[in-house]
Parts: sequence; C-alpha cells; structure tokens
Amino acid sequence: MPLQYINELLGLPELQLHNLLIINAEEVHLEAKPVAYKQPCPVCQSEEGVIRNGHNEPRKIRHLNLLGKRCYIVVPSLRLFCSHCQIDFVWVYEFVSPKQRYSYLFHRQTVEQALGSTAAHSARMQEVPVSTVQRMHQEALPAESERLSKQAWYEAEHTSDLVLGVDDFAIKKGHTYNTGIHNLRGETLLDVLAGRKLEDLRAYARTNPSFLALKPKAVVMDLAQMYHTWISECFPDAIRIADRFHVHGYIIESVQAVRKSVQFTLSPRAKAILKRDHRLLNPPGDRLSEKRKIQLNVLLAFSPLLRKVWEWKEAFSHWYEYSPNVQVATQGFHRWLQQGEHIDHESVQSTLKTMRNWQNEIINYHRCRWTNAIVEGRHNRIKAYQRRHYFTRNRVYYKAGILVECNRHRLSG
Ligand SMILES: [Zn+2]
Repeated sequence: MPLQYINELLGLPELQLHNLLIINAEEVHLEAKPVAYKQPCPVCQSEEGVIRNGHNEPRKIRHLNLLGKRCYIVVPSLRLFCSHCQIDFVWVYEFVSPKQRYSYLFHRQTVEQALGSTAAHSARMQEVPVSTVQRMHQEALPAESERLSKQAWYEAEHTSDLVLGVDDFAIKKGHTYNTGIHNLRGETLLDVLAGRKLEDLRAYARTNPSFLALKPKAVVMDLAQMYHTWISECFPDAIRIADRFHVHGYIIESVQAVRKSVQFTLSPRAKAILKRDHRLLNPPGDRLSEKRKIQLNVLLAFSPLLRKVWEWKEAFSHWYEYSPNVQVATQGFHRWLQQGEHIDHESVQSTLKTMRNWQNEIINYHRCRWTNAIVEGRHNRIKAYQRRHYFTRNRVYYKAGILVECNRHRLSG
C-alpha cells in the first residue's frame, strides 16, 4: 500500500510518512516527520528567528492499531533554536503530548475501555501493561467525572418535579459509610459524601450551595432519622417518602421472627419443612407458582399465628399496590395497623411501633410513587466497581470513579 494512503488512514495530517520500518504479523512501525519545517518559538511566538538545530533520539509512539496490528510511529525529536530569544526548544507534536509514549487517540481508547470494563481487560485488548492502563485511567477520571457531574447537575436543576433519593452504602462491609444523592427520575448519581451522621450531612449542605438550590418535589429515604431531619432542614417543602422496600423489609423481618418462634413449637417433621421452605413466606402470594402456593399453604396450616402474620404482610403489599389516593391510603393504613394489633408477638408489636412513628412518611408514597429501587441496583454497580478497582484508595479518585461508573451509561450515549 503506498505510504500516502496509510498517511490518510492514520488521520494525522501534521505528519508525513516516509518509511515503513517493520511490518510483521503483530506490529507495524512507521517512520514519519512533521509536514512543517518550523514551529514558532514558545517565547516570542514567532517563527522568524527559528532554525533547526539537530535532533535528539527519535521518539517511538504507540498509536491506534492499524489493520489489526500494533502500530508505532517513529518521529524525530527535533531541536529548534530561536536566534531572537537565544533559547532551545523541541518540536511539539499535536498527536502526542511531550514525553509521552502513547498518542492522545490511543490514550483515549484505552481509557474508554477501562471505564467500560476493567483495567485488566483494556490492557489485554490494547496490549499494554496493566499498570499503564491504571495510570491512564486514574489520570482521566477527574475530568471525566467533572464532565458527567456537570451534566447530571444541570439536568437536576432544570427538571420540573425533581425526585431525589438519599441512601447510604458501605465502602467496605461494616466500615465507613457514604451517602449517595440520586436524581431518581433522571437516573443519575449527583454526589457522594463521606459519612451518614447528621453533622456530615449538615457540613455537606453548608459547603454545597448548589445542593440547597435544588427544588425537589420529593425525597425518598429509608427510616433513618438523620436523613429525615437533614432533608426537612434543607427542603422544608419537599415530600419526604419512606422507601417502600425498606419499609417492607421490616414486615418481612417480623414474618420471619414469628416463623422462628413457631418453628420452635412444631414436631420435628413440620419444623424441617418450615425451615426448608421459609422463603415462600416473603413474596406476595399471588406471585407464586401453583406448586409453590400449595407448599405455602402447608406452611400456613402449621400455625394460626403464622397465618395471621402472613395475611397481615399480604395486606400491606395490597395497601401499597392498590390504594387509589392518599385519603384512602390513610384510612387503609390505620385499618392495617389495627389488624397488626391482634397479632400477639413482640416482633410484630415492635414493627407496628416503627410503622406508627413513620406513618406520614410511609403514607406519603401515595402522594408521589417513587422508590429507591434504582438506587439499590446502583449500589450493586458500585460494589462491583469497588471489587474491580481495589487499587483506588485515594478518596478523590474513588469518588470520581463511582460518579463516572454510575453516570456514564445514562449520560454518555
Ligand atoms: Zn523567540
């Protein structure tokens, strides 16, 4: 193939190829030189007094693969001299930054791959050392994170009916916690702040005026008092919603607590069956297959108390699904509380107390039907990210990495 066509393939108009140094099954090495003869002096910005003044060792730059082969471009490291300013300088190429061994395009492609999967995968695809990819990835993160965050915040500021989700996630199990601030409708992660104590949250609001400038219609949270206190301070007009799946979790816990007490009183055979099939008690009954329904009925026949608590749980799902408006939901909620009062078990009574304390926030779901389900999915993404990038110990890179990981799919398209 004539070199001029390869020149076009490379897409580097500043270069003129003049020699094919090596070509084999894996690699192609091309020798090139700048099209221009001179570059302006960095001091006086003029080419007038500039002369070429020899060269240093040529540079070998890795570029995008050419026809499936690793491609290296060998360019002279030209020395220039400005007679006006009496200074030496070296030729600056547009396709690669000074002293780098990888072209900008190669760099970008490698980072894109690392963002999409892992540094190890990108290193394999690009045939470069993993440590190099990790370095490129880390260098690219802050800018990429800032770009995506700007976009996410712009959207949140310009959304009518903004609904926020606030939830915590652990960096490591049982270790420090982060609080994530999510735009639920926009499906973006707006920010990650260290901690989940009221003082951490207040400090964040103090130092982030753009957060306080948001106008959320509603905020979804679990039943953590500090989140509700904080959000009512920041957004007194927002509807605070107790997250449906967290609330439901309390009911499931009570069902299982009753199941454990009941199990204790049964014959060995019944006990074994109940233990084996205890998960059948959790999902809504109408979502079970016919076979599972029969198995469930066996369990419920073991104990009237177990049946009662299961029916109470079913009534709660029904209340969530079918309350047509907030008035009906309010009445229905009180009926459901009364139903629970007839269940003689301390776990149920303690859950009822929690439900009564949070009734407004729970019922608020029927003013604005949003849940943090999407946030839970995002936590899995963050966990996977943490496993892949265990090397990211620096807080700045860690946060940037998570923001990129959670937002790139939604915003990069
Ligand atoms: Zn000069």
